[in-house]
Amino acid sequence: MSQITSAQLHTDPAQFPGVDVYAVAGNPISHSKSPAIHQRFSEQSNQKMHYGRLQPELGKFKTAAQAFFAAGGKGMNVTVPFKLDAQALADVLTPRAQLAGAVNTLRIEDGKIFGDNTDGAGLVRDLLAQGIQIQGSRILLLGAGGASRGVLGPLLEQSPKELIIANRSKAKADELVQLFSNLAASLNVIFHTVSLGDLEDVGKTTSPFDLIINATAAGLSDESPISDDAASNVFTPQSFAYDMVYGKVTALMQQALHRGARVSDGLGMLVEQAADAFLIWRGTQLTDVIDSRAVLAELRNS
Ligand code: NDP
Repeated sequence: MSQITSAQLHTDPAQFPGVDVYAVAGNPISHSKSPAIHQRFSEQSNQKMHYGRLQPELGKFKTAAQAFFAAGGKGMNVTVPFKLDAQALADVLTPRAQLAGAVNTLRIEDGKIFGDNTDGAGLVRDLLAQGIQIQGSRILLLGAGGASRGVLGPLLEQSPKELIIANRSKAKADELVQLFSNLAASLNVIFHTVSLGDLEDVGKTTSPFDLIINATAAGLSDESPISDDAASNVFTPQSFAYDMVYGKVTALMQQALHRGARVSDGLGMLVEQAADAFLIWRGTQLTDVIDSRAVLAELRNS
């Protein structure tokens, strides 16, 4: 797998004549695994392309993205903290990006910028690939930020029995339930919020859950969003705990492991959302040519 050098940090399409250029934009961005993932997809499918990193200054995403596309850039992945800026930049949004209120994939066609969101599809595919039954399950989604917004639609579309959102600021979770209530009702999903404190009370949550998804940023700072008391109610040996943070066993994963649950970090979601972005850019005829699970296995071993 090729190494991304610091010289590629500020990707200028003009430096790669005759090659389709893509980039991931975020701040910070030097840690991103996306260039390595797309490098492997391009090798698997014999696509001639360059994929680099862009680190716009905070508040300067629009200028940086416009300059990238004006210089010939073909497509961009967008990560923290620019997903809402990317949504505002796009001339056209896919329905799922509109529903998510956030964009992680941009492409340009005939001078128009199209925005999509592949995070939710990526999460669902990773869960299914790990043998997790979503249909008919009870799901606890922790967090109500951009990542939760992005995955709610695809999760609800899998027809769980019940999906409960808990967030530190409960008002934000209530807002998400309002936004997605029609979709949940059309699929007969029991859909509501609880406060993090209520998770400590078995009577209030009818815990435990089949699937617990941590979409908070707490794992980045080695914290769990839920207390140990709540963890004892939430996890059983039948539960599956998924933390979107990747590259470590997070505090929430440790709580789950101590109670016999199975766990996963979010690396598979990262690879699967990248696979969808790659297919959006390079064509769905490559669906059976790229092997996302092989790329995931390589990343885990690197
Ligand atoms: P946002 O900044 O939009 O939202 C952060 C969320 O985390 C909010 O719900 C916030 O609660 C909560 N939070 C932050 N710190 C704590 C804490 N100490 N305790 C409890 N809750 C906390 O971020 P995103 O939604 O975009 O991303 C969330 C996480 O998901 C990030 O770690 C990101 O790296 C990861 N992610 C992974 C992906 C993957 O492919 N694996 C894809 C997308 C995201 P409040 O509202 O109260 O502030």
